[in-house]
Amino acid sequence: MSAATAISPDSGPIGRPPLVPLATLIGRELREENSDSPIVKYEYYNYAKRGEDLVLSKPDCLRVPNDPSTSFSVFGVFDGHNGVSAAVYSKEHLLDDVMSAVPEGISRDEWLQTLPSALVAGFVKCDIDFQRRGEVSGTTATLVVIDGLTVTVASVGDSRCILVTPGGELSLLTVDHRLDDNEDEVNRVRASGGEVGRLNICGGQEVGPLRCWPGGLCLSRSIGDMDVGEFIVPVPHVKQVKLPNTGGRLIIASDGIWDAMKNDVAVKSCRGLFTKEAARTIVKNALRTSGLKDDTTCLVVDVITTIRNVTAGAELSLPSPKKSQKLKALFLGKKSHTMSDEGKAGRSSRSVGSIEELFEEGSAMLEKRLPSRASSDAFRCAICQLQQSPSEDLLMDNGPERSQNKLEGPFLCTDCRKKKDAMEGKNRPPKPPKNR
Ligand SMILES: [Zn+2]
Repeated sequence: MSAATAISPDSGPIGRPPLVPLATLIGRELREENSDSPIVKYEYYNYAKRGEDLVLSKPDCLRVPNDPSTSFSVFGVFDGHNGVSAAVYSKEHLLDDVMSAVPEGISRDEWLQTLPSALVAGFVKCDIDFQRRGEVSGTTATLVVIDGLTVTVASVGDSRCILVTPGGELSLLTVDHRLDDNEDEVNRVRASGGEVGRLNICGGQEVGPLRCWPGGLCLSRSIGDMDVGEFIVPVPHVKQVKLPNTGGRLIIASDGIWDAMKNDVAVKSCRGLFTKEAARTIVKNALRTSGLKDDTTCLVVDVITTIRNVTAGAELSLPSPKKSQKLKALFLGKKSHTMSDEGKAGRSSRSVGSIEELFEEGSAMLEKRLPSRASSDAFRCAICQLQQSPSEDLLMDNGPERSQNKLEGPFLCTDCRKKKDAMEGKNRPPKPPKNR
């Protein structure tokens, strides 16, 4: 724009910037926000039978205090058993435990890269600390961290988090740690010294789901559960994805939902609904299918960008009519490729982005999951963050096996190392011979 045309009747005296209409300013802000901070809207609905399902929602976390540019959101579902105390404890402490494993003074990229291992450390620390209280309760834990378009999910147990894009692409971000559905976990539990089998009723008939013994838990991973074997580990499956720039919807729910409906049914049943109505509809449909057998909780989180559309959730604000037409066409075109239930328009869909997978790891072996000693603070425990003096470390490291592996894997304090060995079935007393 030339100097001559910049001075309009609206502009102030020469030398001041021309006034910009408010609508233009807001539009510009939204466009600027688009790349970094989409809007997050959420609601949950819960139908309680025992009151052991808890929901965590913290949409306004700051990674660096007083710096709004470092904001992120956290959501969680905790499905407790044997009482609610493990779920309550995890809801209150798990996020702090995760954040204590995030180094200070790192960039946003470094934070996103370090998050998967910090989640592992936080889950294990939360489990150790809760078990110290001597309570028998246990809980599943599904924790979702949303930073911009990057979504990182860590989970133990059988709550589930699914993601759907406005284009209809569906992605499961968790793995079910349920012995009946997860052969790898059955093998891991057996290798670590647990017995896996069904309940034996009189006459030797086996009934019910696969459970591990002692304890009889159907899950292979959880937080708490000190009365079952240490092979029921708190090490989460972690998956990190980047949403397309059209955003997406997350559905995080306890097993009461997933026992009643498949992932795609849940997605379809709430399409076009506001988050509140979406969560309510999913729970009601689950109850209609299965009845109220269990606590049933559903949390719906919409990650909304300024490339808005009316399809993933009704509360994505309406764009201008012209833009709306274009996006609707894109949506229908894409959907006809992926969820072809009602796709009619076969128009080009390539510009609707897809989910980008950044990271996925589910191993229960902590060497694989925590930062190695070489890349971290040499004498800070990778789980509880306790600083140990080098002399203590040398005293503990004088076993032949230890010194050999000394510089490999994460550094762990004495207590956390004991926990790790126990989880992997090391240091357990030799089993007496047994007839099976
Ligand atoms: Zn430690």
